[in-house]
Amino acid sequence: MAKLLEGKFVAEIIKEQLRSEITNLKIAPVLASIIVGNNSSSLAYIKSQEKTAISLGIIYKLHKFPENISEKELADFIIRLNQDKSINGVILQRPLPLVLDYIKISSMISAGKDVEGIHPSNMGRLVFGKSGIYACTAGAVMELLKSTGIDLYGKEAVIVGSSEIVGKPIALLLLEKFATVTVCHIATSEAGRLKEHVKRAEILIVAVGRAGLIKGQWIKKGAIVIDVGINRLNDLIVGDVDFKTAEKRASFITPVPGGVGPLTVVILMRNLIEATKLQQ
Ligand code: NAD
Repeated sequence: MAKLLEGKFVAEIIKEQLRSEITNLKIAPVLASIIVGNNSSSLAYIKSQEKTAISLGIIYKLHKFPENISEKELADFIIRLNQDKSINGVILQRPLPLVLDYIKISSMISAGKDVEGIHPSNMGRLVFGKSGIYACTAGAVMELLKSTGIDLYGKEAVIVGSSEIVGKPIALLLLEKFATVTVCHIATSEAGRLKEHVKRAEILIVAVGRAGLIKGQWIKKGAIVIDVGINRLNDLIVGDVDFKTAEKRASFITPVPGGVGPLTVVILMRNLIEATKLQQ
């Protein structure tokens, strides 16, 4: 039976490190958070960001805008935050109303204040293995893998899901550790080849958003399984991996909820501290 990889334990260890880094900074870092509209999952994420920020001595400034804000007004506000020396980091909450282009607007946040690690130049640095600011979920996955104590060198790693904020940055971070990386996506499934790739995985990371996509029988015995997916199934939150069967074959597995999620927000704060250090 697999050992559970619970994000809260790793999160506590990282929070302790962050507290001492904040003491060394000699200022309380300030995170400006922008939300447009009232999306319920964004509101829940904001609460968790604020709680984590306060617990670390970080100042969390929330800026709420109505759904009908124009792209120009939002862009002008971001530019003001970029220029404001009292602000160390900026996060634009997802999703934006459909009429607003998230990629275009979020890339207006200057690279030095991009605490989500999604600015093209922070992404670019990742290609060279030079970035201290990663996409938060990717950072969380890497911390969970580190907590297993397993050396990734030469391991067969399979990622299912190739989004810009999850799958692609994880692939780059795993390459940095010299894992052999395969990235699967919708076309892999459509070609009927998902199962054969998953079956080879010594490290399996799944970030799709489809409950039960990965069957437990596909998991290689002893694999490490990180399930990033979040799906609402009736009243339950479940991942993309069929947990009950997978835990019988894996060596380590993340629960959903309680695996990657609790760490993501801590990595966001780590990115803020990294950005503040670079500004100093
Ligand atoms: P996305 O929609 O941007 O990307 C989904 C990816 O899955 C794409 O690469 C797509 O090609 C692939 N895909 C879709 N159907 C597939 C199939 N049948 N077989 C194989 N691949 C398929 O999603 P995202 O933003 O990367 O999020 C993925 C999941 O991770 C969602 O459930 C999201 O809620 C969750 N998530 C969790 C956290 C966290 O902190 N725990 C953070 C971000 C995202």
